[in-house]
Amino acid sequence: MPDSTARHEVKPEANLTLQGVAGSPGIAIGKAYLVQQEDVDVVEKRFVSSEDTPDEVKRFKEAVKKARKQLKRIIDDVPKEFREHIYILDAHMMLLKDKMLYKGTIAHIENEHVNAEWALKMAVDEVKSIFKKMPDPYFRERGSDITHVSKLVTENLLGTKPSNLSGIDKRVIIVARDLSPAETTQIQLEKIQAFLTDSGGRTSHTCIIARSLEIPAVLGLGTATQQIKTDDLIIVDGSAGVVILNPDEEALTRYQERRDLFEQYQATITRSSHLPAETTDGFNLPVMANIGVVEEVVSLIDHGADGIGLYRTEFLYLNRPVLPSEQELFDNYRDVVEIVAPRPVTIRTLDVGGDKFVSDPRLAEEMNPALGLRAIRFSLQSPEIFMAQLRAILRAANFGNVRIMIPMISQVDEILKAKEFLNQAAESLEKDGIPFKADIELGAMIEVPSAVMMADVIAKEVDFFSIGTNDLIQYSLAIDRVNKHVAHLYQPLNPGVLRMIQRVVDAAKQADIEVNMCGEMAGDPLNLPVLLGMELDAISMNPISIPSVKRVARMLSVEESKLFLKEALKRPTTEDVIKLVQNTYGPSFPKAALSRPNQV
Ligand code: PEP
Ligand code: MG
Repeated sequence: MPDSTARHEVKPEANLTLQGVAGSPGIAIGKAYLVQQEDVDVVEKRFVSSEDTPDEVKRFKEAVKKARKQLKRIIDDVPKEFREHIYILDAHMMLLKDKMLYKGTIAHIENEHVNAEWALKMAVDEVKSIFKKMPDPYFRERGSDITHVSKLVTENLLGTKPSNLSGIDKRVIIVARDLSPAETTQIQLEKIQAFLTDSGGRTSHTCIIARSLEIPAVLGLGTATQQIKTDDLIIVDGSAGVVILNPDEEALTRYQERRDLFEQYQATITRSSHLPAETTDGFNLPVMANIGVVEEVVSLIDHGADGIGLYRTEFLYLNRPVLPSEQELFDNYRDVVEIVAPRPVTIRTLDVGGDKFVSDPRLAEEMNPALGLRAIRFSLQSPEIFMAQLRAILRAANFGNVRIMIPMISQVDEILKAKEFLNQAAESLEKDGIPFKADIELGAMIEVPSAVMMADVIAKEVDFFSIGTNDLIQYSLAIDRVNKHVAHLYQPLNPGVLRMIQRVVDAAKQADIEVNMCGEMAGDPLNLPVLLGMELDAISMNPISIPSVKRVARMLSVEESKLFLKEALKRPTTEDVIKLVQNTYGPSFPKAALSRPNQV
């Protein structure tokens, strides 16, 4: 067949659309900057003679040493807007010492007599296969940290130059195969309109950084670096995860309008996000944030959170050969508590197991991890880990307004045992002469059906309840929260779920304790009439949902919501409840407030 492209320049197709993962919302229109990244994924396998093996090991050790120095230099030079993300680079520094990676590579060189690049690749594949099996996308994504770190070492072994991003001097849209945190920190951010990457997902660090800096990002585009060239004009819709190449006039006008609308909407909700969520009949609903890493603290304050309703503390236990020390935990909690003070911070004790995984051999091989050694069950069986965390929380409590919350309570004994640990933690701190605050509120997460049934008994032992609907729905409807095949059945407005929540609220009111909700259900404005009708004392959600939820709360009244709830509880199916919400509130809620942040 004659090759026509060789003779005639083919005009690029207009409005070529690429679909990726909506990483960080917002719209950018501008010129692309393709980051040249050498392909170090494809390394050759070579055999090394026995007598050359020690030299090969030495070559590997030197490449690691050099990578350490490079990272150190990057950390020292990190610009101030990135200071809060340094922990990611510190984690990379630690990965360079990771036993499986470091010793594993050396073992492959010595045992199989292969070149260092190949041995490293084998060790990386082994570590990554462990990460890949983890059901939680956040932890799965941590496999990419291994890739970034090993890439640095491989570049040193091969003598290739790392990509230079610090020289970008125009306002551009960065297009890269992947961006490591080390690379991202070298970019002058004021020059960046948006990020596009071939790989990565919503929980990648680049994505977390883009979101916290409010730079639009689309990730997981697959072949963007092959289709886009430097200086190509492109449109990035970070809210929808769409990229448009070679846009025509009509597309440009449409997206300019959407960009203006998005910016106006952001400005409006941000302006009002600091106002209280006061209902039309004067009830002030505290709207709090769920966070998992310290870096989200800035975002929650910007989004007008009234405090932290759930600090998921798993992050510090991940991806590392040794557990965090009490001092490290304390420093971390203190940072969060001090920044957020005087607003309250509810620190949840470790919730590993289930879909949240750390490298403890007891968690590795479970058939049904969601029903296994999880959360408080794990903590009660790991006294040293639990005690270090409790001591760190009590110490941090001295610096602000701290509450403590125990996950996955399924029977009252667990709360009683947790209280014994808490008393011991206080006594040991007293004995050690370390300052702390013992008088802090203790709460139980209600996320297991047996705890719903026993809520009246548990209520007598705690200061507050927090309903974890993510798990409560999973356990009560028997729907795996991470299984995409049953995702359509995962319905917060299921009548069975509503009755359970109502029962928990009744038990709390009866015992005169506070009842909150911190599952994702609380972050959807459509669920708000039901939740207000139940008279929850506070709700907690991902920070980005807060402005919309507050806005809708200001349009509702508790008295009307109570009447509405009565009707909703009579409906036999989920669909009936959803229809009722939509018919009653759909027309009056602002459209933008009802659309999820990534649909605006
Ligand atoms: C929940 O289960 O609703 C919850 C908030 O906790 P997590 O999502 O961390 O299990
Ligand atoms: Mg849970």
